[in-house]
Amino acid sequence: MSEQLENLNRLPLRDDLRGLTPYGAPQLDVPILLNVNENTHGLPEHVRRAIVAEVESAVGGLNRYPDREFTQLREKLARYLGHGLVPENIWAGNGSNEVLQQILQAFGGPGRTAMSFPPTYSMYPLLASGTGTAYVTGTREADFSLTPESAAAQIRAQAPNIIILCTPNNPTGTALGLDVIEAAYEAGEASNAIVVVDEAYAEFSHADTPSALQLLPGRERLIISRTMSKAFALAGARIGYLAAAPQIADALRLVRLPYHLSAITQATANAALTHADALLSNVEDIKGQRDRIVRELTDLGLDPAPSDANFVLFGGMENPRAVWEGLLEAGVLVRDIGIEGHLRVTAGTEAETDTFLTVLRSLLPA
Ligand SMILES: *Cc1c(COP(=O)(O)O)cnc(C)c1O
Repeated sequence: MSEQLENLNRLPLRDDLRGLTPYGAPQLDVPILLNVNENTHGLPEHVRRAIVAEVESAVGGLNRYPDREFTQLREKLARYLGHGLVPENIWAGNGSNEVLQQILQAFGGPGRTAMSFPPTYSMYPLLASGTGTAYVTGTREADFSLTPESAAAQIRAQAPNIIILCTPNNPTGTALGLDVIEAAYEAGEASNAIVVVDEAYAEFSHADTPSALQLLPGRERLIISRTMSKAFALAGARIGYLAAAPQIADALRLVRLPYHLSAITQATANAALTHADALLSNVEDIKGQRDRIVRELTDLGLDPAPSDANFVLFGGMENPRAVWEGLLEAGVLVRDIGIEGHLRVTAGTEAETDTFLTVLRSLLPA
């Protein structure tokens, strides 16, 4: 046992947290970072200036607590999402991870169960354990797809209190059809399950992949979770949000910390949403690089999963570890997400994709 773990274990830590490992994507100092699905384009200059101006005016009021209800932000997010949503449908937090944690605090907890379908986002089990919620898993087909019939049968068998469906799914990039979400919602009726659809990557979807936002009317147990970390290029600002029936937001008001969204965060998000079009202008470019990566990896004889996100999961390498190390040596960091034989790469700028593909090609047997 490491000394660090021994020191930790001397503390009166909760038993269900003993032996757990924190979330830890490596943060290495490498020229080309394609490992955590960030938007590598950065913020346009005029949006930077707009954010600085809005933050500057918020600084004058920092002696006061911020608007606890982040009213302006909820208005702007409702308008951005469309689908007839109003501010009462919106809730936000410091990243969608905080929003997910609040959902688990309100609807999970001791004696309750959250269910997801791996391989999926590695934070779900950690958020479950942090809130004392049991975590159970369903299974997917070998190509990472999930049929409505299979999802419904597995949900009926486990009767979870919370179902988390990630689409487009991290780390596979694959999207679920709306029929899967509808089937999961109906199958969850017996256990009165909250169904969370994590759409962190929705903006990168192909035009014919619809958002589950259109399923919200008449489904009060359905929650669509979104983030400004990916398409909006604001991972560092920590802003995530959801759309759902107004009573869902009321439930989360019971568990949120007072004034959880700082005035600085609200100012940043408000300014960014005023310039949503400019911030999202790189999305088409990123989608183009994503489709190019899928195409070129296929041509190289590798096995990329179809992707609706800003990253690609690919297999078909004889020695993925050697490929990961070879890329790193050349200054390109990709992610080994622990799926046997696979690596995941973020679609960055055209130049970053050029370098990734060139180095990768040199590492594969001729
Ligand atoms: C990146 C990501 C998020 C976003 O997390 P934030 O806390 O909003 O930065 C949420 N869900 C999934 C599946 C992700 O990959």
